[in-house]
Amino acid sequence: MNNNSFDTLIKLHKVEKRLLEINHSRGDLPGKIDVIKNKINDLNNQSQLHNDRLTEIDKRKTLLTHTIQDIESKVSSLNDQMYKVKSNREYEALLSEIDHLNNENLNTIKELEEFDDEVKKIESSLNENNESLELLNNDLSNKDNQLKETNSEFEKEEIELVNEKNSFIENLSEVAESLIHTYNSKKEEYDGLAFSAISRGCCENCYSQLPPQLIIDAKNKEQLVNCPSCNILLYFQEDDSL
Ligand SMILES: [Zn+2]
Repeated sequence: MNNNSFDTLIKLHKVEKRLLEINHSRGDLPGKIDVIKNKINDLNNQSQLHNDRLTEIDKRKTLLTHTIQDIESKVSSLNDQMYKVKSNREYEALLSEIDHLNNENLNTIKELEEFDDEVKKIESSLNENNESLELLNNDLSNKDNQLKETNSEFEKEEIELVNEKNSFIENLSEVAESLIHTYNSKKEEYDGLAFSAISRGCCENCYSQLPPQLIIDAKNKEQLVNCPSCNILLYFQEDDSL
């Protein structure tokens, strides 16, 4: 490894560190926005199911209303026939048919009434959903605006950093593959940062005092140096003193 590739690696590290800082400044807004969007989605799906059920009930109610009208008209015509009966047997038969139809009518009316209860419940649930949706949508638009503000604050810097990062990565392609591999696996191990600066003779990541020889090695930039305590990669800041 030469000094040049080490410097490129450190530059890449610094760019990535700044990008992480920017990302942290967004806080948990993106996560919160996702949670709100999921809730809105769930409520909309629930409302859709409610509305489907209301349509279904409406169709059934129309059918039942027609059935009731049919039964009533049959009963009315049977009642008319009652005046014309000539035998007890005929009378009994008509009476029993009317009874049967009246029972059927009662059942149909009961079914209709049961739907009324269900419709009331669905409508109140739909109202609750709408109220929740209104609150959630307000919350979502507030958080969206906050995120947009944060994004616009850092937008330019972030684009520049990403460009820089890409150009460093291009430069890095000349460096031994194992170096990039070590850098990337360290990044995963240490929440996105492979390196820690040496500050006042200490590792900035774990604050442990470093042996003088290790600091000299880090200054020489001829090999990657790990912190003996926390194992993060170390680099020496030129403007820092021992
Ligand atoms: Zn350390």
